[in-house]
Amino acid sequence: MTSIIDDIRKTARQLLTEEKVDVVIGYEKGSLPLKATPCFVRSPQDVDKLIWDETCENNLAAFVVKTPGKKAIIAKGCDSRALMVLIQENQIVRDDLYIIGVSCQGVIDQRKIEAETGEIIGATITDGKISVQGIECDKVFNFTEVKDITCQTCRYPNPVLEDVHIGGSIEVLQQATLFADVMVMENKSDSERKAYFKEQMGKCIRCYACRNVCPMCYCQECFVDCNSPKWLTGGVDSAENLLFQTGRALHLAGRCVECGACSRACPQGVDIRALSRKVNKDVKEMYNHESGLTEEVKPALNVYSADDPEAFLVKE
Ligand code: SF4
Ligand code: SF4
Ligand code: SF4
Repeated sequence: MTSIIDDIRKTARQLLTEEKVDVVIGYEKGSLPLKATPCFVRSPQDVDKLIWDETCENNLAAFVVKTPGKKAIIAKGCDSRALMVLIQENQIVRDDLYIIGVSCQGVIDQRKIEAETGEIIGATITDGKISVQGIECDKVFNFTEVKDITCQTCRYPNPVLEDVHIGGSIEVLQQATLFADVMVMENKSDSERKAYFKEQMGKCIRCYACRNVCPMCYCQECFVDCNSPKWLTGGVDSAENLLFQTGRALHLAGRCVECGACSRACPQGVDIRALSRKVNKDVKEMYNHESGLTEEVKPALNVYSADDPEAFLVKE
């Protein structure tokens, strides 16, 4: 039986050899331990650098819009949902895209490892065990102990849109409630929530890594960079940081695919999920909508109905 990575490489090689695509967007080993990095393979001779494991954390859909020509992309469940939204929003021509779907066990949250070992100086992954050499100590982790929080409750690990599927499928978790974490936040008092977000936003250095890795943040000019009107000064403070994150969360309403890439990219460990998950819960409750699941159902805020229960929206 061949492995998933063998089949990914074989498919990529075939697509490039037969000139069906100009580039295959996948992952290669990064320069730091436990870090994969997105890569763009343009020749059959280079396909062996492609990898597939629990370090493949980027949402590769973020690179599709800016990559010209015909392209193939390796897509986990959340990448495929992002591709679906990008197609719905006319950012991608479907005929220019070949989706190599791979079901996903989830990705590693390095912060959980570094909290115990200090900075990681070496690591290997074998059969779901991660052996880490850290600056402070060495330790072997089970993957489930260090799985990213987003992946722990992922309901779409299997691609929802693909041209070929590699490997098996993953059984989807049944959850008693989809938004238990949001309900905990909702049950706090206003002053508790205010204090929480003040503390979280006080950590933000406005590096915009969260925006830059997000497949849905493709605007050529983000509102934070806009001079007219000028929404934000260049300064970094808790109030402006909160305005940035709330503005971003609202722009992603009905579009965020819950890949967790923004949270993992944040160098400051800001709890960005608290806002985006709340918006996702509201969109689900108000519009019965989850982003990027089918081609037919358009993003919730891109459609209107004359039967809208909010009468002020539809005037005679
Ligand atoms: S959210 Fe996590 S588990 Fe789900 S598809 Fe994405 S990376 Fe995989
Ligand atoms: S939330 Fe994190 S990633 Fe986003 S701008 Fe702030 S520090 Fe950077
Ligand atoms: S906001 Fe974060 S979780 Fe949502 S699609 Fe963008 S990167 Fe993924």
